[in-house]
Amino acid sequence: MSQDDPRTELAQIAASLRAYLEWQQDSGSLGIPRGKRPPPSVAAKPEGNRQDAKVDAEAPRNAPPHEPPTLGVLGALAVPPSPTPPEPPPAPVTAAAPVWHDEPKPSPPAVAPPPASAMPSTGTERLVRLEQIREEVRNCAKCELATTRTNTVFSRGNPESKLCFIGEAPGADEDAQGLPFVGRAGQLLDKMIGAMGLSPERDVYVCNIIKCRPPGNRRPTPDESNTCIPYLHEQLALVRPRVIVAMGNTAVAALLQTTMGITKIRGQWKLYRGSTLVMPTYHPSYLLRPSAQQQQAKREAWDDLQLVMKELGIEAPKRR
Ligand code: URA
Repeated sequence: MSQDDPRTELAQIAASLRAYLEWQQDSGSLGIPRGKRPPPSVAAKPEGNRQDAKVDAEAPRNAPPHEPPTLGVLGALAVPPSPTPPEPPPAPVTAAAPVWHDEPKPSPPAVAPPPASAMPSTGTERLVRLEQIREEVRNCAKCELATTRTNTVFSRGNPESKLCFIGEAPGADEDAQGLPFVGRAGQLLDKMIGAMGLSPERDVYVCNIIKCRPPGNRRPTPDESNTCIPYLHEQLALVRPRVIVAMGNTAVAALLQTTMGITKIRGQWKLYRGSTLVMPTYHPSYLLRPSAQQQQAKREAWDDLQLVMKELGIEAPKRR
């Protein structure tokens, strides 16, 4: 079946709906009021060429095979920059009550990215360089985490996507498989991505601030973050996402250099390195953790993702 085949489209809509409903079910489905449901079409489409196919050059190494690269939802919409919201005022640097875990310390500025002239310019060069960095990470011994890891964890998804999800650090499942977000939090993340009408393999790029598992799933130290983050900076310079979803306090602190807690900062557009839109939201692990605030947090996370969809011109799957 071709991508244009109405049956393919129907199957995709059905898969998105299933993911959305499963997510809602997991979140106690009645928790999301009808009025909060995403409108069928949330934004004007970006102008310009919508035919730029995306390649799936960085599909998970041990993921089941899937259909050959096709026009992903974001792939089709990716290239022309859409009008972006006005630059938000700088986040006030205030201490706020941490939600997921203790407030992360702000990281000092990380190593500067390579000069633009040294950056690979073609898509192929960028993919090649990403694979080189993946290899550098595989051999990295810059911090103690190298002595306890089973595998380094670099990325999964489409390195040419315009939407990047960034978490904290690998957990036990990720360490075992060498892929980010493959445990319970990853399953929820995939449902959230599916609820947006997107494919986790084809339409988004997923990675972490830290590439090795901190023993016992402890939070990474500021030193570990600072040591590891140059890899992420170069990754992002090569992937060039239009929107980054920063999940949880560690990702927000490392990307935005802020001490603001996730409950305060979530849902507000910020800028990474002055140019890339960042939507801070809750980490899926927090959304999985039973608490009095869980349902509300899930609603808020969905609100945040709808802002991302609107910005990227992604139509929510239609409900029947
Ligand atoms: N939590 C994260 O932050 N990253 C993962 O890859 C898995 C769980």
